[in-house]
This record gives sequence, structure tokens and C-alpha cells, in this order.
Amino acid sequence: MKMNNTQIAIPFVNLNFQHQLIQNQLQQAIQAVLEQGDFILGKALADFEAAFAAACGTEYGVGVASGTDAIALGLQACKIGFGDEVILPVNTFVATLIGVLRAGAKPIFVDCDPRTALIDLEAAARAITSKTKAIIPVHLYGQMVSPKQLLDLADTYKLLIFEDAAQAHLAEREGYRAGSVGIAAAFSFYPSKNLGGVGDGGMLVTRDPDVAQTMIRLRNYGASQKYFHTESGTNSRLDTIQAAVLHQKLPYLAQWNHDRLQIAQDYDTELAPLAANGIIPIENHSGEGHVYHLYVMRICDSCPVERSEIQAQLMAAGIQTGIHYPIPCHLQPAFAELGYQVGDFPHAEMLAKQILSLPMYPGLSNSQVKEISSAIAAELPTHLPVAI
Ligand SMILES: *Cc1c(COP(=O)(O)O)cnc(C)c1O
Repeated sequence: MKMNNTQIAIPFVNLNFQHQLIQNQLQQAIQAVLEQGDFILGKALADFEAAFAAACGTEYGVGVASGTDAIALGLQACKIGFGDEVILPVNTFVATLIGVLRAGAKPIFVDCDPRTALIDLEAAARAITSKTKAIIPVHLYGQMVSPKQLLDLADTYKLLIFEDAAQAHLAEREGYRAGSVGIAAAFSFYPSKNLGGVGDGGMLVTRDPDVAQTMIRLRNYGASQKYFHTESGTNSRLDTIQAAVLHQKLPYLAQWNHDRLQIAQDYDTELAPLAANGIIPIENHSGEGHVYHLYVMRICDSCPVERSEIQAQLMAAGIQTGIHYPIPCHLQPAFAELGYQVGDFPHAEMLAKQILSLPMYPGLSNSQVKEISSAIAAELPTHLPVAI
């Protein structure tokens, strides 16, 4: 991501490291598509779909224009729609919610576990009614929701699991890989995701051949063959050029995820002494399988310095941070008609006020992690009594 502000010493995301490493390969892959000319539904797309589905430990991949479309069309392909209730965490990127609404289903929000920021599955169980058709676990920040607990819940209440894996490419937990737990899973290839294209893109992965076939039609105007339409679909294909780029990056993804894990462990070490000042990282309950799309810490109420102040001071030191996400879905003005209110989801509302995402990308060095951590520590009064 190109920064035009020269004051920024450490950006929030920097893709140069990735792109410089494989620049020649990327150019060749793009050149090959230019020569081939099969820009829509070309060979490089089919090749990448097969490779990515295999990497996720599942059967079929169907490339679409965005992660949002992978959710909206994917739910439709799983026959989840009008009259169905779909459970989702309230602290997710708004695209999860938009996907449910576009599929015609009724979103039912539940709160999160404040330690991990992942959906609270006990709250999910309490939200189930006779109309509940599916649950969407969001593998937020790169950490999977427990597959065992999800499968137990789905089995007990006969629910479909549709994974939002947009932040969790190749994440693992309890022997499962993100995208292989439920009936289907949605991925995003937005440039800054763990696997990102040079533009928008997304994919639905599934091991169900009927879901895959329906998805192939839905992304292509609902056509089962040219000019013969069996459903009202849309135009949402992953460009051949994007697929060619993504396929070049795929072999590096495991290493890049490992780099992210190392950076996260470095942050954990550096930030540990700040716990006494109310600064604590979101917890990793999935060990080495966490792929750290984001590294998020909480600035708890016991911290003597406000989050806005910490963020401003870091910016003054040239360090960019983010908040993922500042307003939970139920409090977004666009969705007021769903009828939720302030206070409905106390954990998500608390986290929205406390969280801060620190720079995280392959290529961020250990000395930069130390620099960021010292910049945070420098804002805190020393010798503070422990007060959590
Ligand atoms: C990025 C993201 C999406 C949407 O993907 P796009 O490709 O931007 O449409 C959906 N859900 C989550 C959790 C995301 O992070």
C-alpha cells in the first residue's frame, strides 16, 4: 500500500515485502494471461480454484468478485434465505451482516467472548429458535472458532455451519483447517488479507458438489449453460488475472502466516509488562494455528491513558494503528431497523471501545515490534500500582 505521507515510519500494512520477493513471477503470470486473453473464467482461475480448495482441505473452490459476494451468494447456494434465521457475531466486519441480508435471511446477532473476541457459542445456543437454519462463525483476526464446539452445537440443533474465513486463510485449530469445518466457507482476497490479490476478489470453498455447482451458476447470471438460466444469479467472477496473481502467492502463504505468528509472539513478549497498566492482548486459544490477520490489544478501563490518546501518540511517532471495529454491527445506522439497542451486547460494545490493532504484516521486523511496544510503554506512567 503506497503511503503518500512521508511522516509514517511504520505503516499499519505494507505489501512491498511480498511483492518485491515475487515481482518477476507476478509480472510473468500477468503477461501470460494477457497473451492467453481468457480474462473471464479462464484457465488460471480453474487452476487456482482447485489449488486453493486443496490448501483449505476441501474439494471445490468457486472464485467470485469479493468476500462479500462469497458470503451472499454462498448462503444462497446453501439454500439459506427467506424465512431462515442465521446466527452471527455482532462484532464482525459489516460484510458478514450484508451477506446475510442479501441472501434474504434474518440476521440474529450474538455477543462475543471478551478474551478472544470470537463468537460466544453459549450465547449462540441461547439464540436458537425453530427458524434457525445456520450459524456463521467468523474466524476473527485469524483465529478459528473452536471446530469441535461448533460441530457439537450444529449437531445438537441441526444447524448448517457457514464459515466466514475472510481473515483466516490456512488457519488451523483442533486438527481442522479454516474452510473445512462447515457446509461451505467464504474467503476474501482483498489486497491486505493474508492472501491478497491486486484488487478485489473472493472464493467460496465447499466439499458439497451441489453447493459448488449452484455457486458456479449464481456467479454467472444463473446460467447452467450459455443463455439458459435456471436461477436469477448475478455477475460476480474472480478475474483470471487476479487468480493468476493469487496462485503465484499461494505457495508463500504458509511462510507469511508463520512470519505473522512470530511477530505476534514478539508483541506478546514485549507487551507482557504492560498488563499491570491494563494493556492486554486479545487471547490466542488456538496455538500455532492462529494466522494473525490482525494483532489486537485491549486498553482496559484500568489503563490510566485513553485509547484515543495512545493512538494519537503512536501516530505522532509515525506508527499507524487501526480499530477493528469501532462500531459493532447492531449500532450501525444502516441497520437500526433490526431493532437492537445500546446495551444488547455488552462484551462487543466494551471491546469496540478498548481494542487497538497494531501494525502486522510479513516483513515487519523484531526491532520495529520493539519500537512500537516501547512507544506504547512510553505513554504510561511508571511504577503504577497493579489495578486490574
Ligand atoms: C474482508 C472481510 C469480508 C469481506 O470481504 P471483501 O472481499 O472485502 O468483500 C467479510 N468478512 C470479514 C470478516 C472480512 O474481514
